[in-house]
Amino acid sequence: MTSPLHSITPSPHHPLTPSPRPAVVLLSGGLDSYTAAAIAKSDGFSLHALTVRYGQRHVRELEAARQVAAALGVVIHLELDLDLRGIGGSALTSNLAVPHGRDVNERGIPSTYVPARNTIFLSLALGWAEALGAQDLVIGVNALDYSGYPDCRPEFIAAFESLAGLATRAGVEGGRFSVHTPLIGLSKAQIIRRGAALGLDYRLTHSCYDPPPGRAFCGTCDSCVIRAKGFAEAGFPDPLIVASAPRI
Ligand SMILES: [Zn+2]
Repeated sequence: MTSPLHSITPSPHHPLTPSPRPAVVLLSGGLDSYTAAAIAKSDGFSLHALTVRYGQRHVRELEAARQVAAALGVVIHLELDLDLRGIGGSALTSNLAVPHGRDVNERGIPSTYVPARNTIFLSLALGWAEALGAQDLVIGVNALDYSGYPDCRPEFIAAFESLAGLATRAGVEGGRFSVHTPLIGLSKAQIIRRGAALGLDYRLTHSCYDPPPGRAFCGTCDSCVIRAKGFAEAGFPDPLIVASAPRI
């Protein structure tokens, strides 16, 4: 696979060090952030998980983040409230309808894009990392099987690393922040295979943008479609769907 320019930094040489390096990982409750966090843990980082309650449509996502954090054995799971519905501008943070049955290969940025979300979240992670004395941030962005979001691209991550050095006391004093993006060059199927190899339980995760009442997923939003395609290509069934009385 093509290699994502930077940031994977798997720190292969110190996984057994007695004091693992702390990393702040953005944990949404989705499949990607769970897998990215697990990879960071397997690389020897101690995980400080940050979940932002930004006004997501569904509390199920937050419950999933808590379950995933517990499964990962994070040192701390910090939940911050920052209601982005005050800003709006996204189907996920307003009353705009979430698209269903869209062609996910269609060009353009869909209405589920949340304005500047990853910039905002990484800024929160950076602030917490600096307070903790950590220099490593982990985010499960993915530039292949994604929905066209501009803040999932490698050039955005590289720019944020530059910003982190300029924006912080730690940076000015010689520290260097790394934003680890272990999934950025992987397809969804590759992500799922990697997670399965690490023994992850994807039943704990939540991906759907717009689950119908009483159901865990809709099957037709971009996120459900991309997840289903990923499991199909990975060659095994989605345990979340298996566990929830399949209808597809
Ligand atoms: Zn869905």
